[in-house]
Amino acid sequence: AKAQVVVIGGGFGGATAARYLRLFSQHRIGVVLIEPDAAFVSCPVSNLVIGGSRKLAEITRSYTGLERLGVRVLRDVAQAVDTQRKTVTLGGGATIAYDMLVVSPGVELQFDEVEGLRAAHAAGQVLQAWKAGPETLALRRQLEAMRDGGVFAITIPEQPYRCPPAPYERACQVAWYFRQAKPRSKVLVLDANPDITSKGPIFRKAWAEQYPGMVDYRPQNKVVGVDGRAGVLHLEVQDDVQADVLNVLPPMRAGAIAAQAGLRNVADRRWCGVDFLTFESTAARDVYVLGDALQIAPLMPKSGHMANSQAKVAAAAIVARLSGWEPNPAPMLTNTCYSYIDDRTVAHVASVHAYDAGQKTFLPVPGAGGVSAEANHDEARPAWDWARNIWSDTLG
Ligand code: FAD
Repeated sequence: AKAQVVVIGGGFGGATAARYLRLFSQHRIGVVLIEPDAAFVSCPVSNLVIGGSRKLAEITRSYTGLERLGVRVLRDVAQAVDTQRKTVTLGGGATIAYDMLVVSPGVELQFDEVEGLRAAHAAGQVLQAWKAGPETLALRRQLEAMRDGGVFAITIPEQPYRCPPAPYERACQVAWYFRQAKPRSKVLVLDANPDITSKGPIFRKAWAEQYPGMVDYRPQNKVVGVDGRAGVLHLEVQDDVQADVLNVLPPMRAGAIAAQAGLRNVADRRWCGVDFLTFESTAARDVYVLGDALQIAPLMPKSGHMANSQAKVAAAAIVARLSGWEPNPAPMLTNTCYSYIDDRTVAHVASVHAYDAGQKTFLPVPGAGGVSAEANHDEARPAWDWARNIWSDTLG
Protein backbone atom coordinates (compact mmCIF):
# COMPACT_ATOMS: atom_id res chain seq x y z
CA ALA A 1 0.00 0.00 0.00
CA LYS A 2 0.98 3.60 -0.56
CA ALA A 3 2.68 5.14 2.48
CA GLN A 4 0.69 7.91 4.11
CA VAL A 5 2.14 11.00 5.78
CA VAL A 6 -0.18 13.16 7.86
CA VAL A 7 0.82 16.81 8.35
CA ILE A 8 -0.61 18.89 11.21
CA GLY A 9 -0.67 22.63 10.43
CA GLY A 10 -0.81 24.39 7.05
CA GLY A 11 1.60 27.23 7.91
CA PHE A 12 5.13 27.71 6.60
CA GLY A 13 6.51 24.44 7.98
CA GLY A 14 3.54 22.12 7.39
CA ALA A 15 2.48 23.35 3.95
CA THR A 16 6.06 23.24 2.64
CA ALA A 17 6.50 19.71 4.00
CA ALA A 18 3.24 18.57 2.35
CA ARG A 19 4.26 20.07 -0.98
CA TYR A 20 7.81 18.71 -1.01
CA LEU A 21 6.74 15.25 0.16
CA ARG A 22 4.66 15.03 -3.02
CA LEU A 23 7.44 16.48 -5.21
CA PHE A 24 10.39 14.53 -3.77
CA SER A 25 8.46 11.21 -3.81
CA GLN A 26 7.19 11.90 -7.34
CA HIS A 27 3.64 11.55 -6.00
CA ARG A 28 4.34 8.09 -4.54
CA ILE A 29 3.55 9.17 -0.97
CA GLY A 30 0.00 10.04 0.05
CA VAL A 31 -0.15 13.31 2.01
CA VAL A 32 -2.99 14.55 4.23
CA LEU A 33 -2.77 18.11 5.54
CA ILE A 34 -4.88 19.10 8.57
CA GLU A 35 -5.50 22.84 8.91
CA PRO A 36 -8.52 24.61 10.46
CA ASP A 37 -8.17 27.88 8.52
CA ALA A 38 -9.76 28.21 5.08
CA ALA A 39 -6.77 30.11 3.69
CA PHE A 40 -3.12 30.84 4.45
CA VAL A 41 -2.53 34.35 5.83
CA SER A 42 1.13 35.34 5.92
CA CYS A 43 2.61 36.69 9.16
CA PRO A 44 5.60 38.00 7.15
CA VAL A 45 4.65 41.44 5.77
CA SER A 46 1.46 41.47 7.90
CA ASN A 47 2.88 44.48 9.75
CA LEU A 48 2.35 46.40 6.50
CA VAL A 49 -1.39 45.81 6.85
CA ILE A 50 -1.18 47.35 10.32
CA GLY A 51 0.81 50.28 8.89
CA GLY A 52 -1.75 50.67 6.12
CA SER A 53 0.32 50.21 2.95
CA ARG A 54 -1.02 46.71 2.14
CA LYS A 55 -4.38 44.93 2.36
CA LEU A 56 -5.03 41.58 4.02
CA ALA A 57 -6.12 40.12 0.66
CA GLU A 58 -2.61 40.78 -0.70
CA ILE A 59 -1.03 38.54 1.96
CA THR A 60 -3.64 35.74 1.79
CA ARG A 61 -3.19 32.61 -0.34
CA SER A 62 -5.42 29.55 -0.88
CA TYR A 63 -4.57 25.88 -0.42
CA THR A 64 -5.67 24.95 -3.95
CA GLY A 65 -2.05 24.73 -5.18
CA LEU A 66 -1.45 21.91 -2.70
CA GLU A 67 -4.70 20.20 -3.67
CA ARG A 68 -3.69 20.34 -7.35
CA LEU A 69 -0.53 18.48 -6.35
CA GLY A 70 -2.64 15.72 -4.79
CA VAL A 71 -2.41 16.76 -1.14
CA ARG A 72 -5.66 15.96 0.70
CA VAL A 73 -6.38 19.16 2.62
CA LEU A 74 -8.76 18.58 5.53
CA ARG A 75 -10.24 21.73 7.02
CA ASP A 76 -10.23 20.51 10.59
CA VAL A 77 -8.17 20.60 13.74
CA ALA A 78 -5.98 17.79 15.07
CA GLN A 79 -7.38 17.15 18.52
CA ALA A 80 -5.30 14.20 19.68
CA VAL A 81 -2.27 12.26 18.51
CA ASP A 82 -1.59 8.69 19.59
CA THR A 83 2.07 8.07 18.81
CA GLN A 84 1.80 4.40 19.86
CA ARG A 85 -1.11 3.53 17.60
CA LYS A 86 0.06 6.10 15.03
CA THR A 87 -3.25 7.86 14.64
CA VAL A 88 -4.55 11.44 14.67
CA THR A 89 -8.06 12.20 15.88
CA LEU A 90 -9.73 15.22 14.32
CA GLY A 91 -12.07 17.77 15.90
CA GLY A 92 -14.78 16.43 13.60
CA GLY A 93 -14.37 13.00 15.24
CA ALA A 94 -12.64 11.02 12.49
CA THR A 95 -9.39 9.16 13.18
CA ILE A 96 -6.62 8.97 10.55
CA ALA A 97 -3.73 6.53 10.55
CA TYR A 98 -0.23 7.60 9.54
CA ASP A 99 3.03 5.96 8.62
CA MET A 100 4.88 9.22 9.34
CA LEU A 101 3.57 12.34 11.04
CA VAL A 102 4.73 15.94 10.57
CA VAL A 103 3.80 18.42 13.31
CA SER A 104 4.14 22.16 12.58
CA PRO A 105 1.52 23.91 14.75
CA GLY A 106 3.43 27.16 15.32
CA VAL A 107 3.31 28.80 18.73
CA GLU A 108 0.79 28.81 21.54
CA LEU A 109 0.48 32.27 23.08
CA GLN A 110 0.63 31.89 26.87
CA PHE A 111 -2.07 34.40 27.80
CA ASP A 112 -2.13 33.22 31.42
CA GLU A 113 1.47 34.33 31.96
CA VAL A 114 0.25 37.97 31.99
CA GLU A 115 -2.41 38.61 34.64
CA GLY A 116 -5.71 39.77 33.16
CA LEU A 117 -4.61 39.20 29.58
CA ARG A 118 -6.83 36.24 28.75
CA ALA A 119 -9.98 38.17 29.69
CA ALA A 120 -8.80 41.43 28.06
CA HIS A 121 -7.98 39.52 24.86
CA ALA A 122 -11.29 37.66 24.84
CA ALA A 123 -13.09 41.01 25.24
CA GLY A 124 -11.19 42.40 22.23
CA GLN A 125 -9.58 45.13 24.39
CA VAL A 126 -5.99 43.93 24.09
CA LEU A 127 -4.90 42.28 20.85
CA GLN A 128 -1.87 40.20 19.85
CA ALA A 129 -2.06 40.06 16.02
CA TRP A 130 0.86 37.58 16.24
CA LYS A 131 -1.14 35.17 14.10
CA ALA A 132 -2.05 37.09 10.98
CA GLY A 133 -5.74 37.28 10.11
CA PRO A 134 -8.75 38.95 11.73
CA GLU A 135 -6.67 40.35 14.59
CA THR A 136 -4.36 42.09 12.15
CA LEU A 137 -7.35 44.02 10.83
CA ALA A 138 -8.75 44.59 14.32
CA LEU A 139 -5.47 46.15 15.47
CA ARG A 140 -5.42 48.39 12.41
CA ARG A 141 -8.97 49.52 13.28
CA GLN A 142 -7.96 50.30 16.87
CA LEU A 143 -5.15 52.51 15.57
CA GLU A 144 -7.53 54.26 13.15
CA ALA A 145 -9.98 54.92 15.98
CA MET A 146 -7.31 56.28 18.33
CA ARG A 147 -7.20 60.04 18.98
CA ASP A 148 -4.21 62.10 17.79
CA GLY A 149 -1.92 62.47 20.79
CA GLY A 150 -2.63 58.92 21.96
CA VAL A 151 -0.15 56.17 22.84
CA PHE A 152 0.29 52.77 21.18
CA ALA A 153 2.17 50.35 23.44
CA ILE A 154 3.65 47.06 22.24
CA THR A 155 5.15 44.65 24.77
CA ILE A 156 7.74 42.01 23.88
CA PRO A 157 8.30 38.80 25.88
CA GLU A 158 11.65 37.35 26.78
CA GLN A 159 13.40 35.39 24.04
CA PRO A 160 12.79 33.00 22.38
CA TYR A 161 9.58 34.12 20.65
CA ARG A 162 8.21 34.03 17.09
CA CYS A 163 10.22 36.27 14.72
CA PRO A 164 12.79 38.31 16.67
CA PRO A 165 12.72 41.54 14.54
CA ALA A 166 8.93 41.66 13.97
CA PRO A 167 7.91 43.65 17.10
CA TYR A 168 10.38 46.41 16.21
CA GLU A 169 9.19 46.39 12.61
CA ARG A 170 5.64 46.78 13.94
CA ALA A 171 6.74 49.78 16.01
CA CYS A 172 8.10 51.34 12.78
CA GLN A 173 4.90 50.64 10.85
CA VAL A 174 2.71 52.18 13.52
CA ALA A 175 5.03 55.21 13.72
CA TRP A 176 4.83 55.55 9.93
CA TYR A 177 1.02 55.61 10.12
CA PHE A 178 1.05 58.07 13.04
CA ARG A 179 3.44 60.42 11.26
CA GLN A 180 0.94 60.72 8.40
CA ALA A 181 -2.37 60.62 10.27
CA LYS A 182 -1.83 61.48 13.97
CA PRO A 183 1.54 63.19 14.33
CA ARG A 184 1.19 64.01 18.05
CA SER A 185 0.88 60.31 18.96
CA LYS A 186 3.55 58.10 20.51
CA VAL A 187 4.78 54.52 20.12
CA LEU A 188 5.96 52.88 23.33
CA VAL A 189 8.02 49.68 23.08
CA LEU A 190 8.23 47.76 26.37
CA ASP A 191 10.82 45.02 25.89
CA ALA A 192 11.39 42.32 28.51
CA ASN A 193 14.82 41.68 26.92
CA PRO A 194 17.96 43.66 27.80
CA ASP A 195 18.27 45.03 24.26
CA ILE A 196 16.76 44.94 20.76
CA THR A 197 16.98 41.30 19.70
CA SER A 198 17.57 41.80 15.97
CA LYS A 199 18.81 44.61 13.67
CA GLY A 200 19.26 46.87 16.71
CA PRO A 201 21.35 49.64 15.10
CA ILE A 202 19.02 49.80 12.10
CA PHE A 203 15.88 50.19 14.19
CA ARG A 204 17.49 52.72 16.53
CA LYS A 205 18.62 54.83 13.59
CA ALA A 206 15.16 54.69 12.01
CA TRP A 207 13.48 55.74 15.25
CA ALA A 208 15.94 58.62 15.76
CA GLU A 209 15.99 59.90 12.19
CA GLN A 210 12.66 58.98 10.60
CA TYR A 211 10.41 59.14 13.64
CA PRO A 212 12.20 61.57 15.97
CA GLY A 213 10.54 61.93 19.36
CA MET A 214 7.83 59.45 18.46
CA VAL A 215 9.20 56.03 19.47
CA ASP A 216 10.10 55.45 23.11
CA TYR A 217 12.08 52.20 23.47
CA ARG A 218 12.42 50.78 27.00
CA PRO A 219 14.49 47.61 27.48
CA GLN A 220 14.14 45.40 30.55
CA ASN A 221 10.50 46.38 30.94
CA LYS A 222 8.65 43.13 31.57
CA VAL A 223 4.86 43.23 31.56
CA VAL A 224 3.23 41.02 34.20
CA GLY A 225 -0.36 42.27 34.18
CA VAL A 226 -2.88 44.23 32.16
CA ASP A 227 -6.13 46.07 32.79
CA GLY A 228 -7.79 46.13 29.39
CA ARG A 229 -10.63 48.47 30.33
CA ALA A 230 -8.41 51.11 31.95
CA GLY A 231 -5.64 50.68 29.35
CA VAL A 232 -3.01 50.03 32.00
CA LEU A 233 0.04 47.77 31.89
CA HIS A 234 1.61 46.47 35.11
CA LEU A 235 5.36 45.95 34.93
CA GLU A 236 7.49 43.63 37.03
CA VAL A 237 9.86 46.39 38.20
CA GLN A 238 8.79 49.79 36.86
CA ASP A 239 5.65 51.86 37.54
CA ASP A 240 2.39 51.18 35.71
CA VAL A 241 2.05 52.51 32.17
CA GLN A 242 -1.11 53.83 30.50
CA ALA A 243 -1.77 53.59 26.77
CA ASP A 244 -4.66 54.00 24.33
CA VAL A 245 -3.95 50.94 22.19
CA LEU A 246 -2.32 47.95 23.88
CA ASN A 247 -0.60 45.21 21.89
CA VAL A 248 0.61 42.64 24.41
CA LEU A 249 2.73 39.75 23.14
CA PRO A 250 2.77 37.12 25.89
CA PRO A 251 5.46 34.45 26.27
CA MET A 252 5.18 31.67 23.71
CA ARG A 253 5.69 27.92 23.52
CA ALA A 254 5.15 25.17 20.96
CA GLY A 255 1.52 24.81 19.81
CA ALA A 256 -0.82 22.93 22.17
CA ILE A 257 -1.15 19.80 20.02
CA ALA A 258 2.60 19.25 20.45
CA ALA A 259 2.05 19.03 24.21
CA GLN A 260 -0.92 16.69 23.85
CA ALA A 261 1.23 14.43 21.66
CA GLY A 262 4.01 14.42 24.26
CA LEU A 263 6.45 16.22 21.95
CA ARG A 264 7.07 19.34 24.05
CA ASN A 265 9.93 17.69 25.89
CA VAL A 266 12.70 20.30 26.40
CA ALA A 267 13.35 23.75 27.93
CA ASP A 268 10.83 23.37 30.78
CA ARG A 269 8.57 21.54 28.35
CA ARG A 270 8.06 24.69 26.29
CA TRP A 271 9.61 23.47 23.02
CA CYS A 272 10.06 20.26 21.02
CA GLY A 273 13.41 18.53 20.78
CA VAL A 274 14.42 16.99 17.44
CA ASP A 275 17.28 15.09 15.84
CA PHE A 276 18.51 17.93 13.64
CA LEU A 277 19.73 15.57 10.91
CA THR A 278 16.12 14.69 10.01
CA PHE A 279 13.85 16.78 12.31
CA GLU A 280 12.46 13.57 13.83
CA SER A 281 11.20 14.17 17.37
CA THR A 282 13.38 13.00 20.25
CA ALA A 283 10.16 12.06 22.07
CA ALA A 284 8.37 9.87 19.50
CA ARG A 285 9.43 7.73 16.58
CA ASP A 286 8.09 8.47 13.09
CA VAL A 287 7.04 11.99 14.17
CA TYR A 288 8.78 15.05 12.71
CA VAL A 289 8.50 18.55 14.19
CA LEU A 290 9.09 21.79 12.26
CA GLY A 291 9.11 25.55 12.60
CA ASP A 292 8.42 27.73 15.59
CA ALA A 293 7.57 24.71 17.76
CA LEU A 294 11.21 23.58 17.80
CA GLN A 295 13.86 24.03 20.44
CA ILE A 296 16.19 26.05 18.25
CA ALA A 297 19.81 25.36 17.35
CA PRO A 298 22.34 28.16 18.07
CA LEU A 299 21.32 31.46 16.38
CA MET A 300 18.45 29.79 14.53
CA PRO A 301 15.53 32.23 14.31
CA LYS A 302 11.87 31.26 14.68
CA SER A 303 10.97 32.45 11.19
CA GLY A 304 8.81 31.45 8.25
CA HIS A 305 11.83 31.16 5.99
CA MET A 306 13.53 28.85 8.50
CA ALA A 307 10.38 26.69 8.83
CA ASN A 308 10.20 26.43 5.03
CA SER A 309 13.87 25.44 4.85
CA GLN A 310 13.58 22.87 7.66
CA ALA A 311 10.50 21.37 5.97
CA LYS A 312 12.49 20.51 2.85
CA VAL A 313 15.18 18.76 4.90
CA ALA A 314 12.49 16.81 6.78
CA ALA A 315 10.56 15.94 3.61
CA ALA A 316 13.74 14.59 2.01
CA ALA A 317 14.53 12.60 5.18
CA ILE A 318 11.02 11.10 5.27
CA VAL A 319 11.18 10.11 1.59
CA ALA A 320 14.60 8.55 2.27
CA ARG A 321 13.21 6.65 5.29
CA LEU A 322 10.24 5.30 3.36
CA SER A 323 12.54 4.30 0.49
CA GLY A 324 15.11 2.57 2.69
CA TRP A 325 17.86 5.11 1.98
CA GLU A 326 20.16 6.97 4.39
CA PRO A 327 19.25 10.62 4.99
CA ASN A 328 21.40 13.39 3.51
CA PRO A 329 24.36 13.49 5.95
CA ALA A 330 25.00 17.23 5.48
CA PRO A 331 21.76 19.25 5.32
CA MET A 332 21.85 23.05 5.08
CA LEU A 333 19.29 25.69 6.01
CA THR A 334 18.97 29.31 4.94
CA ASN A 335 17.16 32.30 6.35
CA THR A 336 16.45 35.83 5.15
CA CYS A 337 14.29 38.22 7.06
CA TYR A 338 13.32 41.66 5.74
CA SER A 339 12.02 44.45 7.98
CA TYR A 340 10.11 47.46 6.67
CA ILE A 341 10.87 50.81 8.30
CA ASP A 342 8.07 52.50 6.30
CA ASP A 343 6.36 51.41 3.07
CA ARG A 344 9.58 51.40 1.01
CA THR A 345 12.61 51.54 3.31
CA VAL A 346 13.82 48.05 4.09
CA ALA A 347 16.70 46.15 5.74
CA HIS A 348 17.49 42.44 5.77
CA VAL A 349 19.30 39.93 7.94
CA ALA A 350 20.44 36.65 6.35
CA SER A 351 22.17 33.49 7.56
CA VAL A 352 23.18 30.03 6.37
CA HIS A 353 23.20 27.09 8.80
CA ALA A 354 25.07 23.81 8.23
CA TYR A 355 24.53 20.53 10.09
CA ASP A 356 27.49 19.75 12.31
CA ALA A 357 27.81 15.98 12.68
CA GLY A 358 30.09 16.25 15.72
CA GLN A 359 27.75 18.49 17.71
CA LYS A 360 24.58 17.05 16.13
CA THR A 361 23.10 20.49 15.57
CA PHE A 362 22.99 23.27 12.99
CA LEU A 363 25.64 25.97 13.27
CA PRO A 364 25.74 29.27 11.38
CA VAL A 365 28.30 29.25 8.56
CA PRO A 366 30.79 32.01 9.43
CA GLY A 367 30.76 34.88 6.95
CA ALA A 368 27.84 33.48 4.97
CA GLY A 369 25.22 35.85 6.29
CA GLY A 370 24.93 39.47 7.23
CA VAL A 371 22.78 42.51 7.84
CA SER A 372 22.07 45.51 5.58
CA ALA A 373 24.50 48.35 6.33
CA GLU A 374 21.43 50.53 6.74
CA ALA A 375 17.79 50.51 5.74
CA ASN A 376 17.41 51.54 2.10
CA HIS A 377 15.02 51.81 -0.84
CA ASP A 378 16.82 49.30 -3.07
CA GLU A 379 15.64 46.37 -0.95
CA ALA A 380 11.94 47.21 -1.20
CA ARG A 381 11.51 45.25 -4.41
CA PRO A 382 13.47 42.13 -3.32
CA ALA A 383 11.61 42.18 0.02
CA TRP A 384 8.19 41.97 -1.60
CA ASP A 385 9.51 39.43 -4.14
CA TRP A 386 10.88 37.37 -1.24
CA ALA A 387 7.37 37.17 0.24
CA ARG A 388 5.73 36.19 -3.06
CA ASN A 389 8.44 33.60 -3.74
CA ILE A 390 8.19 31.94 -0.36
CA TRP A 391 4.39 31.79 -0.55
CA SER A 392 4.73 30.03 -3.94
CA ASP A 393 7.44 27.70 -2.65
CA THR A 394 5.31 26.86 0.41
CA LEU A 395 1.89 26.53 -1.23
CA GLY A 396 2.52 25.93 -4.94
P1 FAD B 1 2.62 28.75 11.37
O1 FAD B 1 3.03 29.35 10.09
O2 FAD B 1 1.97 29.59 12.41
O3 FAD B 1 1.65 27.58 11.02
C1 FAD B 1 1.02 26.81 12.01
C2 FAD B 1 -0.32 26.33 11.46
O4 FAD B 1 -0.78 25.23 12.25
C3 FAD B 1 -1.41 27.39 11.52
O5 FAD B 1 -1.96 27.56 10.24
C4 FAD B 1 -2.42 26.82 12.52
O6 FAD B 1 -3.76 27.13 12.16
C5 FAD B 1 -2.16 25.33 12.43
N1 FAD B 1 -2.48 24.56 13.63
C6 FAD B 1 -2.13 24.81 14.92
N2 FAD B 1 -2.60 23.85 15.73
C7 FAD B 1 -3.23 22.95 14.93
C8 FAD B 1 -3.93 21.75 15.18
N3 FAD B 1 -4.07 21.24 16.42
N4 FAD B 1 -4.47 21.08 14.13
C9 FAD B 1 -4.35 21.57 12.86
N5 FAD B 1 -3.70 22.72 12.57
C10 FAD B 1 -3.17 23.39 13.61
N6 FAD B 1 9.18 35.07 9.26
C11 FAD B 1 10.01 35.31 8.21
O7 FAD B 1 10.67 34.38 7.71
N7 FAD B 1 10.10 36.54 7.65
C12 FAD B 1 9.38 37.60 8.11
O8 FAD B 1 9.48 38.70 7.57
C13 FAD B 1 8.49 37.38 9.21
N8 FAD B 1 7.75 38.39 9.68
C14 FAD B 1 6.86 38.16 10.70
C15 FAD B 1 6.05 39.20 11.15
C16 FAD B 1 5.15 39.00 12.16
C17 FAD B 1 4.29 40.14 12.63
C18 FAD B 1 5.02 37.72 12.75
C19 FAD B 1 4.03 37.48 13.84
C20 FAD B 1 5.82 36.67 12.32
C21 FAD B 1 6.73 36.87 11.30
N9 FAD B 1 7.55 35.83 10.82
C22 FAD B 1 8.42 36.07 9.77
C23 FAD B 1 7.57 34.52 11.51
C24 FAD B 1 6.74 33.44 10.82
O9 FAD B 1 5.42 33.87 10.66
C25 FAD B 1 6.75 32.16 11.63
O10 FAD B 1 8.05 31.86 12.04
C26 FAD B 1 6.19 30.99 10.82
O11 FAD B 1 4.83 31.24 10.58
C27 FAD B 1 6.41 29.65 11.49
O12 FAD B 1 5.88 28.60 10.73
P2 FAD B 1 5.17 27.37 11.47
O13 FAD B 1 4.82 26.38 10.42
O14 FAD B 1 5.98 26.95 12.62
O15 FAD B 1 3.85 28.03 12.09
